[in-house]
Amino acid sequence: MTNNVTIPEKLLPEDGRFGSGPSKIRHDQISELSGDWKTILGTSHRQAPVKRVVASIKEGLRELFGIPDGYEIALGNGGSTAFWDMACACLINRKAAFGVYGSFTRKFADCAANAPFLDQPVIFDSPLGTYALPQPTEGVDAYCWAHNETSTGVNAPVRRIAGPQVAPEGIPDSALTIVDGTSAAGAIEVDISQTDVYYFSPQKAFGAEGGIWFAILSPAAIERANQIEQAAKLEGAQRWVPSFLSLTKALDNARKDQTLNTPSVGNFILIDNQIRWLNENGGLAWSTARCSKSASIVYDWAERVPFAQPFVKDPESRSHSVATIDMDEMVSVDQVLGILRQNGIVDVSGYRGLHRNQLRIGVFPSVEPRDVEALLNCVDYVVAHM
Ligand SMILES: *Cc1c(COP(=O)(O)O)cnc(C)c1O
Repeated sequence: MTNNVTIPEKLLPEDGRFGSGPSKIRHDQISELSGDWKTILGTSHRQAPVKRVVASIKEGLRELFGIPDGYEIALGNGGSTAFWDMACACLINRKAAFGVYGSFTRKFADCAANAPFLDQPVIFDSPLGTYALPQPTEGVDAYCWAHNETSTGVNAPVRRIAGPQVAPEGIPDSALTIVDGTSAAGAIEVDISQTDVYYFSPQKAFGAEGGIWFAILSPAAIERANQIEQAAKLEGAQRWVPSFLSLTKALDNARKDQTLNTPSVGNFILIDNQIRWLNENGGLAWSTARCSKSASIVYDWAERVPFAQPFVKDPESRSHSVATIDMDEMVSVDQVLGILRQNGIVDVSGYRGLHRNQLRIGVFPSVEPRDVEALLNCVDYVVAHM
């Protein structure tokens, strides 16, 4: 066995970035950043030039997702991980139910389990490589799961859970549907009307950098946050909503095309460029088709070659944005990864917490399907030569 394999130039992808987040950033996004270097970068996020970029992002997201009337977009610093704590502070009234089927769905459920003012959540879990949606449950006021579980490459449906109605203390009497769209948003079609909250960070399908979250909020979600935050201000309230975790403050700022505190202005430029690129090419239908083509190339390959197979057994549940492939134990993925990296192909390792001999390939919209083909040819070459 050798760790030094030089992949012939003609087999290499044009771009070797296949990460599941951070993911490939297109050259045009970077060019736009340098084009805007003097007028936007290094200027105040409270002034018109930066606010125009935020307005354009909101407008672009409205178009991309076909956001229903009455829904609003909020954003803030901290990424989806921060949004989990915000959801515990401002959206879950007392008790949530979670679909748990991987590291990301588990982390949000853990946030709720650790919030001292919430009841213990109800967990519907299922083995890695499958999904479980939360089931209608008495007393539950929020149903939470992920559209795409990035740790395992599992895609779950997004549709409202018809639950029993709860009406404690004047809180709106229907349960909220809160969906983590972090690694699906922009890559996989979604009907926003089936959710009350669809949230994501931009370092996956939006090919930008992390550190910020976006949430598309239904009128019921906005009303829920208003009521919970009002109640938390009363004398003797059990709940503390820090400013940084206040969804109503985030929304108030978003309405003014701003954020509560200083954002990464450069990231806004990257995000805005990507959303315009997606919309100009045909929107979510286009990107969904493109990602699904790339994903099929990976899954078809894994079913064809003797040393690999798709990790997710049910073809319907296989992700079209993050493809996970189990490798035969005869092939050391660590060795393959090392050789690929020497040849400029990066970040196709499995999720660290999964501990499997696995490749995980981000096939977000920015990735060219022909580069996915090239990547697999490179893997074939490495396996044959190491
Ligand atoms: C990446 C990811 C997160 C975490 O996002 P951060 O921006 O790093 O906080 C949460 N959920 C899912 C499904 C993800 O893929």
